[in-house]
Amino acid sequence: MTETARVDMETIVSLSKRRGFVFQSSDIYGGLSSCWDYGPLGVELKRNIREAWWKAMVHERDDIVGLDSSILMHPQVWVASGHVGEFADPLVDCKVCRQRFRADDLAGDRCPSCAGELTEPRMFNLMFKTFMGPVEEEAAVVYLRPETAQGIFVNFQNVLNTTRKKLPFGIAQTGKSFRNEITTGNFVFRSREFEQMEMEFFVKPGSDEEWFEYWVRQRFEWYVNLGIKREHLRLRPHAQDELAHYAKGCYDIEYLFPMGWCELEGIANRGDFDLVQHVKHSGKELSYFDDETQQRFMPYIIEPSAGVDRSFLAFLLDAYEEEALEKEKRVVLRFHPALAPVKVAVLPLSRNEKLVPVAKKVHSLIRGGFVTQYDDSQSIGRRYRRQDEAGTPFCVTIDFQTLDDHEVTIRDRDSLKQVRLPIGMLPAFLEAKLGGESFEILP
Ligand code: ATP
Repeated sequence: MTETARVDMETIVSLSKRRGFVFQSSDIYGGLSSCWDYGPLGVELKRNIREAWWKAMVHERDDIVGLDSSILMHPQVWVASGHVGEFADPLVDCKVCRQRFRADDLAGDRCPSCAGELTEPRMFNLMFKTFMGPVEEEAAVVYLRPETAQGIFVNFQNVLNTTRKKLPFGIAQTGKSFRNEITTGNFVFRSREFEQMEMEFFVKPGSDEEWFEYWVRQRFEWYVNLGIKREHLRLRPHAQDELAHYAKGCYDIEYLFPMGWCELEGIANRGDFDLVQHVKHSGKELSYFDDETQQRFMPYIIEPSAGVDRSFLAFLLDAYEEEALEKEKRVVLRFHPALAPVKVAVLPLSRNEKLVPVAKKVHSLIRGGFVTQYDDSQSIGRRYRRQDEAGTPFCVTIDFQTLDDHEVTIRDRDSLKQVRLPIGMLPAFLEAKLGGESFEILP
């Protein structure tokens, strides 16, 4: 394998489809390009990513609160934010095959598909437009939000008034965003409907550089703590001419995807751009009054902005391993236990009438505490392989010896070690292993 292709995208796309992580949207109608549906395993992984983020950002901190703002907002929000005027990519059309490309993606001045002649670049706004109410007229135009951040800025005073937070503090939100991207692709990496995890951290001007560095470090370590190999991540500072219209500084956390190093998350120092813009356009007071210094000022904002779908892809790629066992190849997803879609599989050795009731009992003993899967089809070996491929950390097997000694076998996904344990000790054992730092069965 080359440095940039540990596991190729085709393998991950095919595993995703075969095992129910991700399906093409509207598949039975031939699919809708760049839109994806998350299947039974995928939806669990996605929820776990979102919840791990929420836990780290909101629940484990005193200085960040949550928000869930609506996708449709007053159209003036997007005028103030600069999205109506500036959120555009240069677009070229091929005069021969009519395909469209992002001008800044092209190496030459001929169509990459048919070598035809290209039009001059035109700016193309990336926001999806729709109409509010029954009349399709210009006055009724609203946009599907292209980022969740603006919902946070326009609620800054509401949150301040209701929580009595003091600077520095943050507001976090996760949710869908929409961008009419010119070129999509690389599976869920770039789509037109995607989910973001964004946090806006409001600080005193002058302390912004320090907080900026702090959040870059925090966010980098979040991925490492959830199992992404450090050598597959890197930080890339934006060059001055690459900065977005609102940013004072920006770092991308990049992941080594099969197509090369690409952005996973951006951390920006937005200065006071957003609040100043909203004051200008709404006429409302959005400054902060500091009790201690008796001064009123505009806070600066540090924003870590991550994509759920891109993280999903990175966690999936990084967890994937193929191992040669005696006679066959084992595909295993070594997810961190907090992210694994299923935590424990309960497997009776067979559908024997004496084993099944005991296995069902074991299942009901643990399913309240962990996401479990009960599986009694096919050979035990094949069921282990299936769970490995889904990334399930533990399999609990009920066999004939269980009927005598009330013990079950627990198998560890990563080390393949097995231990026997009394059924009654199972919940505490799993709690310790799945909730703790080390989840190997016999460390
Ligand atoms: P890119 O340069 O890749 O288009 P961006 O710099 O426009 O990304 P941001 O505006 O910084 O992206 O958005 C923050 C995060 O939202 C990105 O790091 C990414 O994880 C996610 N994201 C943005 N656009 C998309 C998309 N079209 N599909 C999936 N995720 C996206």
